[in-house]
Amino acid sequence: MLKPPELLKKYFGYDSFRPQQEEIIEKVLSGADSLVLMPTGGGKSLCFQIPALLLPGTAIVVSPLISLMKDQVDALRSNGIAAAFLNSSQTFEEQQMILDACHKGQISLLYVSPEKLISDIDIINQVCKPSLFAIDEAHCISSWGHDFRPEYTQLGFLRQRFAHIPFMALTATADKVTRRDIIKQLKLKTPQVFITSFDRKNLSLDVRIGVKPKEKMEEIIDFVKERDQQSGIIYCLSRKKCEEAYEALANAGVSAMFYHAGMSSETRSSVQDRFINDELQVVCATVAFGMGIDKSNVRWVIHYNLPKNIEGYYQEIGRAGRDGIPSETILYYNYADLIMLNKFASEGAMAEVNLEKLKRMQHYAEADSCRRKILLNYFSENLEENCGNCDVCSNPRKHFDGTLMVQKALSAIMRMGEKEGANMVIDVLRGSKKQEIVAAGYDKLKTHGAGAEVPAIDWQRYLMQMLNLGVLEIAYDENFALRITPLGKDILFGKRKMELTVLQTLQATDKTVKTR
Ligand code: ADP
Ligand code: ZN
Repeated sequence: MLKPPELLKKYFGYDSFRPQQEEIIEKVLSGADSLVLMPTGGGKSLCFQIPALLLPGTAIVVSPLISLMKDQVDALRSNGIAAAFLNSSQTFEEQQMILDACHKGQISLLYVSPEKLISDIDIINQVCKPSLFAIDEAHCISSWGHDFRPEYTQLGFLRQRFAHIPFMALTATADKVTRRDIIKQLKLKTPQVFITSFDRKNLSLDVRIGVKPKEKMEEIIDFVKERDQQSGIIYCLSRKKCEEAYEALANAGVSAMFYHAGMSSETRSSVQDRFINDELQVVCATVAFGMGIDKSNVRWVIHYNLPKNIEGYYQEIGRAGRDGIPSETILYYNYADLIMLNKFASEGAMAEVNLEKLKRMQHYAEADSCRRKILLNYFSENLEENCGNCDVCSNPRKHFDGTLMVQKALSAIMRMGEKEGANMVIDVLRGSKKQEIVAAGYDKLKTHGAGAEVPAIDWQRYLMQMLNLGVLEIAYDENFALRITPLGKDILFGKRKMELTVLQTLQATDKTVKTR
């Protein structure tokens, strides 16, 4: 019988395993359970595909991505591996044919959706002789994960029913809590946890705060045009924004398209194909784009808005530079994003988790220290040295005594009865004579105009710092009014001081490029 390295060469054409792959495969072959954490594109699939070739019977792969199953199975077949899939998209006859082939021992890998596995477990058990269970995208089982799927929670019964078969849970995204939850819910037996480094050193990390919408698009167009041989993805929060960004790029002569769930599946897959074949330079997409796309030369990823959580962000930037060549990522972030995302996050049953995750995302975006350290830390990995490849490392932050600024803002907020949102507060600080301000009598306040020397956009960024520092909070359920926290009161009444971070001048590097 061939050994794993020989199978790797024979079926996949690769000469060597990536870090940990071989250990994981050995573990599975020994019959033990495992939890595998590897970043997207890290090579998780081989970890169950090779054992599937070695163990007698059929390896069952549970995956929620029905739309990708066919492609995955086709790819395996073209490598000479007997694979098949079962899901609700198939006719009864098709399903029978596959079960029949399993029964004849002709299938080494069977991909199934969780709901199919649950409904058809008896028949699958009768015909298949499962050799191992691989639960892909295992974070879907946890309501702590960012992609909770209730049908996953029913998989818990498998471990007991198939007591003598190795189980693997695989995921690209699981923080500590989610990890523990996966093990608990799948009832894995003293699993070995494999964590390959999530560090993607070739990705630069850049966050740009408070760029005005119009300037943002101009900046992006310049960025793209300076990289006319490089393809990239622009992630937007809404479908509408995808289309607008696409239009702006197309008008500037860039070969681009948009991609979101509101399009027909034919159009979507044509956009995907054209992007993969380098016929399109840029795709402006919602987060639906990129799942399972194997394009190694994506050179940059831009987030037009703040993502909902770090898991999603990391997965999305991870689509750049899979070939290991230096690639760029930029995240744009402003106050309006924060308000909108908070509104989304606070709706529904998962509000608490979603809000917490958004807060972590916000902290990352506003970080004062090496961004990669914060990212890796989120995935429980520690980086000893600063990375030297993020905007904070290349432009260390300076601080100043911001007590007076904080006092000005808080005093205005207090005098307005803590019932106004950021824009009104800023208008009052800047001494605006807008009708609403006069009507409310805010122009008579002592703090009216007290911060006139600071541009409105800078005030927004200072207010964000104050939110982050816990001086202020937003009453999301009351028109996003700014409220003063107890810590804020201490500063307002002179009991404490507060340091603020000197604002970075944005786009400085791009401006120099532009004039070249
Ligand atoms: P994941 O499921 O972790 O996102 P995949 O299993 O799809 O990643 O693997 C990503 C890419 O890396 C695939 O193109 C795969 O063929 C390739 N790959 C995996 N293992 C190796 C290896 N040992 N050597 C070279 N390429 C590999
Ligand atoms: Zn850094």
